[in-house]
Amino acid sequence: MINKIKHILQATADAIMPRTCPVCNRVLGADEPFLCRNCLNTLPLTHYQDAQFNRMEQLFAGKVPIERAAALFFYEKASPYSAIIHDIKYRNMTHMGVWMGKHAVAMMKQSAFFDGIDIVVPVPMHPDKEAQRGYNQAHVIAQGVASATGATLLQAIIAVKPHDTQTRKGAYDRWLNTRDTYAPAPHAHTQLAHKHILIIDDVITTGATIIACAQAISHIPGIKISIFTLTAARLT
Ligand SMILES: [Zn+2]
Repeated sequence: MINKIKHILQATADAIMPRTCPVCNRVLGADEPFLCRNCLNTLPLTHYQDAQFNRMEQLFAGKVPIERAAALFFYEKASPYSAIIHDIKYRNMTHMGVWMGKHAVAMMKQSAFFDGIDIVVPVPMHPDKEAQRGYNQAHVIAQGVASATGATLLQAIIAVKPHDTQTRKGAYDRWLNTRDTYAPAPHAHTQLAHKHILIIDDVITTGATIIACAQAISHIPGIKISIFTLTAARLT
C-alpha cells in the first residue's frame, strides 16, 4: 500500500517536474528512482570482487594489510557515468548516494564480498570542508551499505588536519600529504577491536587517502580491514 502511494506521489511529482537520468538525460519513469534502467544495466562494472588479488587490492600490498577490496564501477572523467559521482558529491543528491550504496550490495551479492562485515566506516572529511558542503559523500554511500548489509555505521576515523587539494599530485606526494591526516576516533579502539571493518569512499584513484585511513586503525587488536568504493579510476 505504502509503495503504491509512493508510486502515485512520484508519478504526480514527475508530471509536474520531470526528473531525468543524470547519465543519459532521459526522463525517468516513476519506478526509476535515480538512474534509468538502461544506464543502471550498463554501468561499466569493475568485477573486482570476482578477481584474485585485483588491481585495487594491489594498491594496498606492502602498505597496510587488508582482507579484500572492490569498487562497483569505473570512474572516468569523460564518461557520462561520472555524472553519478558528480551529483552525489556536489549536487546534494544524498538520497542517490544512499541508494547507490544499497544497490552496490545487491549487485555484488553473488560474490559474498559484503559477507561478515561488522562495521562500515566512511572515509572522513575534514570538519571545515564538511560544514561547507553540508554532508560527506562517503558517509551517505556507507549509510546505504550499512542498511543493506545490517552492519553498523560508525565514523570511527576522523580527519585531524585539512589536506591540500590533491589534484595534480603524484602518488608519493599524495602519500606524504595524507600521512598524518587521519586518526582513530576517541572510542574506536574498543569499538573496532576484533571486528571486520569496511572502509568506504566514493572513488579510489591512487589509494593514498584510503591507505592513510586504514593505517590509522590497522594497529587495533584483531582488526580486519576491507575496502569498498563506489567507483575506481581505471588503474594502469
Ligand atoms: Zn540513463
